[in-house]
Amino acid sequence: MNIAAEHPAQSASVRTAKLLIDGEFVESKTKEWRDIVNPATQEVVGRVPFATADEVNAAVAAAHTAFQTWRTTPLGARMRIMLKFQDLVRQNQKRIAQTLTAEQGKTLADAEGDIFRGLEVVEHACSISTLQQGEFSENVAGGVDTYTLRQPIGVCAGITPFNFPAMIPLWMFPMAIVCGNTFVLKPSEQDPLSTMELVELALEAGVPQGVLNVVHGGKDVVDAICTHPDIKAISFVGSTAVGTHVYNLASQHGKRVQSMMGAKNHAVVLPDANKEQTLNALAGAGFGAAGQRCMATSVAVFVGASKDWVPELVERAKSLKVNGGTEPNTDVGPVVSKAAKERILGLVEKGVEEGATLALDGRGIAVKGYEQGNFIGPTIFTDVDTDMSIYKTEIFGPVLCVLEAETLDDAIALVNRNPMGNGVGLFTQSGAAARKFQSEIDIGQVGINIPIPVPVPAFSFTGSRGSKLGDLGPYGKQVVQFYTQTKTVTARWFDDATVNDGVNTTIALR
Ligand code: NAD
Repeated sequence: MNIAAEHPAQSASVRTAKLLIDGEFVESKTKEWRDIVNPATQEVVGRVPFATADEVNAAVAAAHTAFQTWRTTPLGARMRIMLKFQDLVRQNQKRIAQTLTAEQGKTLADAEGDIFRGLEVVEHACSISTLQQGEFSENVAGGVDTYTLRQPIGVCAGITPFNFPAMIPLWMFPMAIVCGNTFVLKPSEQDPLSTMELVELALEAGVPQGVLNVVHGGKDVVDAICTHPDIKAISFVGSTAVGTHVYNLASQHGKRVQSMMGAKNHAVVLPDANKEQTLNALAGAGFGAAGQRCMATSVAVFVGASKDWVPELVERAKSLKVNGGTEPNTDVGPVVSKAAKERILGLVEKGVEEGATLALDGRGIAVKGYEQGNFIGPTIFTDVDTDMSIYKTEIFGPVLCVLEAETLDDAIALVNRNPMGNGVGLFTQSGAAARKFQSEIDIGQVGINIPIPVPVPAFSFTGSRGSKLGDLGPYGKQVVQFYTQTKTVTARWFDDATVNDGVNTTIALR
């Protein structure tokens, strides 16, 4: 890990990620810092502190205090801040995309897409006045009405991964805040600068002092969040190992937790699918963002005669342009860090050792002008079986494993045997096959002729088995449930002061 002791000597263009505590952007007093490195050039673009325990406590305390007034701030006032926020994000999208590409590596177009998919959630947060409604039943017993209040729960926290530094923080704090909670965000330490630009806009939009706070760091900060008595709920997005740890630790400390975690996403191709559209979709979803999307297609399962298309898939993957994310027409940028590149190359090596055929080898790719970049070209393995490390591990790089199945039933059984359940795609022109698939597959997000079926914000992101812990997903109606607690009121108002029913010692309402 690229940890710099004390304050590294930096040029003026190197930005320092600030903490946000009680409405103030402050420089951390920590002695532990990490460089933020441009994955295409190795240039240090910033540095991020690992916040001290006192700083984490100060952020939570600010959120705790702010909750007392924010929870009673009218819905309309909260919503209007989100209206302003979505406008500011839209206006600043291109600027933030530049920062995002510089620290994360993805192409500028994809960085704008990262921001846009988050912006959609902010737009949805503007509908909170109808989303946060309770229920009402009149006259459930004589003169008795029952209704529910959807009240905010208090201080909520969010812990986010490196691969979507805009979208995933925007899944979290806008919905939490607009529901009347206050928030402590812990962005990825690998690329926090674009997240901070969004946070700055949230304050400019009118998010009051203490309502949104940010702390940076790694395991120590995350563990402090998971155990802090004043934090009521935690949203986590990241790997299965860390998400499981966060879920267990925070649950033991009495918190509501949702953990959206790792993946091994299959695309099942039936022989009746439209060949051109399917191969385009596989190449885009397998290698876009250098395979570093939780919904990237990492396994293609060709059913029956569709296996004859594999050579054309290899040709299509070869045609993708690998280059720095700021270069026009780039399809595949670098992976996020040297460590990530080494890890991915190690897995590719293992695939070869374990007997898979390297139908397209993206190792050793040279990118002119970016000789130091963490590039790996599109890589395709055929002859993969389900015992191989490349099949069992989330590679999180531009590496696609190709398997074959005889029938749709075999393909469904294969996908359902994989421990992960994040996303899956089916490519077919048969409505009957699609209907059977969507019913029998045990995966959270199902795409029919859609390679990356991330739900739009009126729905919720889900996940099954090893990809998700906790019942409720981010955004959509589910997250309103997650970020609120339901209070049920049962009320009787006597309009006649002379009514006297006598003492009732049973539980029944009359
Ligand atoms: P990660 O699990 O390494 O990091 C996620 C967060 O946890 C970061 O904020 C990090 O600082 C923190 N963290 C890291 N190690 C920790 C530890 N030992 N203890 C406590 N906290 C720790 O994930 P990543 O590499 O940043 O992101 C990639 C992973 O995220 C992939 O597995 C990907 O599939 C997954 N992901 C899932 C979704 C989803 O919605 N299911 C979306 C995006 C990414």
